Parts: sequence; structure tokens; C-alpha cells
Amino acid sequence: MLNIIIFGAPGSGKGTQSQKLIDKYHLMHISTGDILRSEIENRTELGKHAAKFMNRGKLVPDEMVIDILHELFIHKPAKVGYILDGFPRTLEQGKALDSMLSKRNTKINVVLSLEVDNKHLTERLIKRGEVSGRNDDTPETIKSRLQVYYNQTAPLKEYYAQQGNLSNINGLGTIEDIFSRIEKVVDKHNY
Ligand code: ADP
Repeated sequence: MLNIIIFGAPGSGKGTQSQKLIDKYHLMHISTGDILRSEIENRTELGKHAAKFMNRGKLVPDEMVIDILHELFIHKPAKVGYILDGFPRTLEQGKALDSMLSKRNTKINVVLSLEVDNKHLTERLIKRGEVSGRNDDTPETIKSRLQVYYNQTAPLKEYYAQQGNLSNINGLGTIEDIFSRIEKVVDKHNY
């Protein structure tokens, strides 16, 4: 199995690079952000609850996303592996993920961290907000999401560095430039 986590601040290009990884390595994409947005669209109870956090740029409770992952692993077993995009976002989630995977006799093989400075991130998110219609791409919410990333998510990198899995990727340049940096890392680990 090839299980990859793609980390990065909001606007770092996680979604774009995940798509390229899926195309090349045939991984199953798990984006907790996409799942939560679809729950909101379908007006489920879970979606209503999640929206309260997401619209303010806060993380939804750990328990909620861990339960979602748990269900997914049961109902959607991957053939080749998973690409996790936007999960884990806290140490609690990282530990839960390790235990869910080890129960399935598998583990995380590669952790990619897309490194983009704040100035570029803010520019990209504001631009995206003009076209995405995502109601968390507003200047106020962007500020809060970046803060949440640095306070709650970035510390997780240390956890993966200790496991020897972390690769920092320069997230500036063209989509192709960035993907070729990623390919080098993944190919080194692949099988
Ligand atoms: P981005 O990384 O660009 O902010 P995402 O789609 O990954 O976009 O996440 C959007 C929002 O969904 C987050 O700000 C957060 O509120 C919620 N969310 C997504 N994944 C998680 C997670 N693993 N834990 C907690 N909240 C999450």
C-alpha cells in the first residue's frame, strides 16, 4: 500500500496536487473538507453542525472527522492506497489515524508538506474566493484559518518528522514544477 498525507496551509495547493497524485498513482482521495462541504450541501445534521465551525475558519471537532474517516476505511477499502488531504489536522487526529491504519495492517508511507509563505497564501485565497463561492474564502476567515493552521496543524509536522516520513516541498512555482518535486519523493518510497 502507498498511503500519503498531503499537508499544507489553506491555499498551499493541496487539492491540486492531490488530483495529480491520484491520476498518476491511482490512489483513493480522502478530503475531509470536500466531505464536510457535501454534508453542508445536503443539509445533514452533521453538515449543519460542521458549518458553524467552518464558516468561522475554525476546525470541526476531532471526534467528528475521526468518525468520518473510520466509516470510510470500513466502507471504501483502497486497492493501492489513500491520499489524505486535509486530514489529520491535529495531533489527536494523527494518532487516531495511525491506530486505524495499523488495525488494517498498513501505515502512512509518505508525508508531504507544501511550503508556501503567508503573502502568497493570502493572495491565492483571496483570488480563489472571487471564483469559488466558498464562504470561508473571505479576508476575515482566511486570517483565522491561517492562524489555526500554524497553531494546531503545523505542530503535527514534528510528529511525522520523528517517524522519519516528512518531506518538505517548495510549494511555489508552476503546478508542474511542484508536482515534479513531489514525484521524486513518492517514487523513492513507492514499493
Ligand atoms: P483549506 O485547507 O483550504 O482550508 P479544506 O477544504 O481542507 O480547505 O478545509 C476547509 C474547512 O473544513 C477547515 O477550515 C475546517 O473547518 C474543516 N475541516 C476540514 N478538514 C478538517 C479536519 N481534519 N479537522 C477539522 N476540521 C476540518
